[in-house]
Amino acid sequence: MREDSLLHDERPSTSVDPNARVSYRGEVMAHILVVEDEEKLARFIELELVHEGYEVSKSGDGREALELATNNSYDLILLDIMLPGLNGLEVLRRLGNTHPTPVILLTARDAVMDKVSGLDAGAVDYITKPFAIEELLARVRVALKLHPVKEAGGGDLSDKGSKDMHDPANGIYVWKSLMLDEKKHRVTYDGKEITLTNREFEMLKVFLSNQDIVLSRDTLLEKVCGYDYVGETNIVDVYVRFLRSKIDEAFDIKMIETVRGVGYVVKSE
Ligand code: CA
Repeated sequence: MREDSLLHDERPSTSVDPNARVSYRGEVMAHILVVEDEEKLARFIELELVHEGYEVSKSGDGREALELATNNSYDLILLDIMLPGLNGLEVLRRLGNTHPTPVILLTARDAVMDKVSGLDAGAVDYITKPFAIEELLARVRVALKLHPVKEAGGGDLSDKGSKDMHDPANGIYVWKSLMLDEKKHRVTYDGKEITLTNREFEMLKVFLSNQDIVLSRDTLLEKVCGYDYVGETNIVDVYVRFLRSKIDEAFDIKMIETVRGVGYVVKSE
């Protein structure tokens, strides 16, 4: 696991409903619908998911599952294909491509056509029975991470969605609605482009990759100008001022905070 990913919750938080059940760590738990008519298997999957901290609902009938999925907002659906009522592929088709909840299909061994049709119909993944529970849990984590359910009214990238995009290993640094893309050498706030000089860009990157850490002027000077920089040390304050005028003032936010006598900090919350 990369060091960076330790700093961020692996599970994307989705709809933050004040009435939602919250785990002991304060995370909003993902709600998963398990559609499986083999009762023992369904119960086993439920126990394992609950043990991992997920909230679980179950159904053993395709028609009921379709109704549940249509009328509730789940974060993920595990969908068996061979089901009474309606089969899993038909449930998937009727949900349609615009349904926001990611679906992982549970398929029988060698049912290649089922897998292909399932993926065509919009499933994000499938797992072949019988499976090791660890594999199922891993696929669940991946699906929740890659396919967070869009919130009703959508488009809000500000606090929750964007955090999941923070990916320094790929040169993507995020703070609230601010995003710095190192490869594209591009900075945006709420999608609006911000033009920075190279030094401003470098300093912003240092701040975004050290969120919640108070950086001294010496540290900033070394990281931005190089350890052998000879010149005015107040150049750090000058660049901070430039960044504040282009970001804090331009968007009426408070990103770079002064820590008197020490330096500066960008707080993640
Ligand atoms: Ca079945």
